[in-house]
Amino acid sequence: MSETPDIERVVCDFCGQDQTTRLETLPILTDLPLPMHRLGAMALDLGSQRIHFCKCHSCGLVYMNPRLTESAIARFYDTVYSTPVSNIGYEGDLNGRGAYLLSKAAPLINTFQPSMLDIGCGGGQFLKVAQDRGWKVAGSELSKVAAKSAGALLGVPIHVGDFRDMRPPSGSLDFVSLLEVIEHLRAPIDYLRDAVTLLKPRGILLIEIPNVASLEYSVARLLRQYYRGFIIEHLYYFTPTFIRRLLTDLGLEIVFMSSWTPSARYPNPLRDIWEIMHRSPRATASVDPASPTPGATLPVPPLKPVSFPQRVLRQVNNYMFDTVSKLSEGWKGSSWVVGNTLYVWARKRE
Ligand SMILES: [Zn+2]
Repeated sequence: MSETPDIERVVCDFCGQDQTTRLETLPILTDLPLPMHRLGAMALDLGSQRIHFCKCHSCGLVYMNPRLTESAIARFYDTVYSTPVSNIGYEGDLNGRGAYLLSKAAPLINTFQPSMLDIGCGGGQFLKVAQDRGWKVAGSELSKVAAKSAGALLGVPIHVGDFRDMRPPSGSLDFVSLLEVIEHLRAPIDYLRDAVTLLKPRGILLIEIPNVASLEYSVARLLRQYYRGFIIEHLYYFTPTFIRRLLTDLGLEIVFMSSWTPSARYPNPLRDIWEIMHRSPRATASVDPASPTPGATLPVPPLKPVSFPQRVLRQVNNYMFDTVSKLSEGWKGSSWVVGNTLYVWARKRE
């Protein structure tokens, strides 16, 4: 096996160790379940190398190793995000969640008009919910297109690029949020540390991260099924135990955690039976009719055929988790954090 230019090996970003347990191996790229991922994968050359998800023996951080290099992942994103495949964005989901996320944060901030920075603010939907409540909002975003639409939505300029280039004064903010950001970063620990320095004493940090202590992950391991939470864009994965250790290390105390399992689908046994008979679940490309290039044909590689028993097993598992995710929507437990996505509200120590 030879190293390919698209692959690099790394050590643990938290503790610097390299002893790990391999939890999962990414399917070969042409077998990735999401059509947009198979499309992006066409821009990559991994040779005979495989991508693994590993858990650090020393601290418990879960990370991709080896992983795509910075230039390879940029090529991947360019290919994926320049196509009209639907289900790429998460903005629609965020609209419903923004009010809930802020309602948990507001009582923790004793200020009439809190100052807030949303790092990786996307189209600005979360900031809009805060602005409508009278908060003073600011945002940073890597995508020029998203930053432009956020600026138009909010009527305030959005910083394009790394928030650290904004040079905001340390200790100046009441609230800093990073929703679906940290897991994409190449060096998340220092980035998070820099975000925390922006908070006033007793300021609140809100993060949204993938949870690999979820019920679905445990069941997938038991059934020796690939856990759909492991995806090619997410370089890091967390557990409640690790995040407690990390945030304590960064000078924060956790006030509240909650979790959910993102799913746009309602559990429906009739649809599931139809899907078992006709096609593999979640395997088809859909073209967004509102896309800027209507009628575009997508060169999405077809998914490898799946055997009938495998289809049944996958569909039973999907049905189970569509049910669990719907039942657990709005779940407000503080210790039973078993969903695939974790929310953490933490306060900066004085
Ligand atoms: Zn470690």
